[in-house]
Amino acid sequence: MRVRFWGTRGSLPKPGPDTLFYGGNTSCVEVQTTAGTLVIIDCGSGLHGLGQALMTARTTSLKGYILISHTHWDHIQGIPFFAPFFVSGNEWDIYAPKGIGQSVQDTLAGQMQYAHFPVSLDQMGAKIRYHELIEGAFRIDDVTVKTRYLNHTALTLGFRLEADGTTMVYASDHEPFSRRLASGKGKILGQDRQHCEFLAGADLVIHDAHFTLNEYHSKIGWGHSTVEYAVAMCRAAGARQLALTHHAPLRTDDAIDQIVKNNLDDQRGMTPALHVFAAAEGQVLELKASDEASPSPRRAMSSEPWILDAPALVNPTLLMAVEDLVAAKTIRQAAQADDIAVIEAGSVAEALATEQSVQPSLIILEQRGDDADALELFKKVRGTEEGLADEIPIIIVADDENALAWTKAGVTDWLIKPFSSAYARTRIRAILLRRACRWERALMTADEEQRLVALHDLGILDTPPEERFDQITRLAAASFNAPMALISLVDRERQWFKSTHGLDVTETSRETSFCAHAISSRAALVVSDTFQDSRFADNPLVTHAPRIRFYAGFPIFIGANCVGTVCVMDDKPRKIDTEAVGLLRDLATLAEMELCRRQRTNE
Ligand SMILES: [Zn+2]
Ligand SMILES: [Zn+2]
Repeated sequence: MRVRFWGTRGSLPKPGPDTLFYGGNTSCVEVQTTAGTLVIIDCGSGLHGLGQALMTARTTSLKGYILISHTHWDHIQGIPFFAPFFVSGNEWDIYAPKGIGQSVQDTLAGQMQYAHFPVSLDQMGAKIRYHELIEGAFRIDDVTVKTRYLNHTALTLGFRLEADGTTMVYASDHEPFSRRLASGKGKILGQDRQHCEFLAGADLVIHDAHFTLNEYHSKIGWGHSTVEYAVAMCRAAGARQLALTHHAPLRTDDAIDQIVKNNLDDQRGMTPALHVFAAAEGQVLELKASDEASPSPRRAMSSEPWILDAPALVNPTLLMAVEDLVAAKTIRQAAQADDIAVIEAGSVAEALATEQSVQPSLIILEQRGDDADALELFKKVRGTEEGLADEIPIIIVADDENALAWTKAGVTDWLIKPFSSAYARTRIRAILLRRACRWERALMTADEEQRLVALHDLGILDTPPEERFDQITRLAAASFNAPMALISLVDRERQWFKSTHGLDVTETSRETSFCAHAISSRAALVVSDTFQDSRFADNPLVTHAPRIRFYAGFPIFIGANCVGTVCVMDDKPRKIDTEAVGLLRDLATLAEMELCRRQRTNE
């Protein structure tokens, strides 16, 4: 994977003698895979130079993919000047976060209205397709793209690109979820922990580092990271290289050099080594698959490329109990801007009491002072069956983060005062859209490394089909009268099939895997109707081929380690009884015996 920076500046283009080295153009990154797939991330003024280069190098018509993190001007201002958009025969797919109101196309067209620009978006010659993204994963040619909401003043997605056995993550613009972490010190919890998991093991992370810690104190809530936070996240994530980006407009080349040097001094002697540098316009990086990385090419993952269908939000309602007048007004404004109905309660107790009749999409409560009663009440209600449905997200408004107790009690997110309406709006949007998407990834197992050792010791991954395993899937399909049956082994990032019946695929990503859920719970998993199950309804294996409606899987254990499953699937919903689950368990035991026998023979 080859990565080239075309724009590294944040907020405003800043050409001039002081920015010659790191560059004055705003955000734009070009990614090319070995197979020739072209992905452009963000369309700041750097896009102009990239467009010129593509026009010069082209031999045939151009085809590419553009990922836009968010539509703040410094991330889209290059679009009207991107020469390849003006040539008919060229084909472009643009992906950007789905908003709640206006479409991506309308937002982009806005900056090309007559008052701003002589050519309108729909007059450009190339074929341009628009796609709206939420959190999740999708594929473009040989690239798997994963998305995650960042913490910014507009709804913003980070992108994780996996191709050629390497991984790069682009995370700009983003502020620490917990302001404590701006210093780069302290325990990483909650959403910051999830951000960290999004960066996990990346060969390259391109991360917002707009501020230094000293500057940040007066810029809280502006939606940007500190250098210290970016470094701490990448360290915790086990990333190899960190490119600091979104350089502040007033930051000179000398000042950036000094930041990198200071960081080098701070990190000296720390292991594992993390290579930290400041992204410079024109800089090219070749990412190579590491030796330890899984050598398996990501072939035949799915017969058709899939993208996430953005969910529809039906009449979202916000229930809130916030006494602070300013905070309440700010939230009201944020909700109104997105046509979200607001129902107000006088107190936390009242809000929790009316929740059942109101059935809100989201609850916002205020923590005042040392409000132990509210916490106790909250815990009580959250903890009972008839109380708040577990999945209703709850945001706590507070002066200060006293996160631990509330997070433990199940709070989804925080709004720390003071906050702007734009900020509240982004948080609310991200939560509602995330909730509207009914697809959960399986949790990583606690004994993941040990589990993988057991799986790899079997020496079975990527081996050809064998009759003794095919017998088991045939038997499974016949006994359940199911069109599909698998012996699935769950590897670090994929599930690989030793035997398939009725399915012409050798592996899928772990992200979409049903079996990974059985693995993490170490128990049988039966999904009678995926459409009715919030963990699976929007899973691409449900919304696209093979359109799974029914799934039943039983774990295969090697010693104490759960390595895979025997499972059956149908494209129609169905119910099975405990006797049938017993049958599946017997088949899993057979598979386990064959795997062990095979391992012994090979030794
Ligand atoms: Zn920006
Ligand atoms: Zn921005």
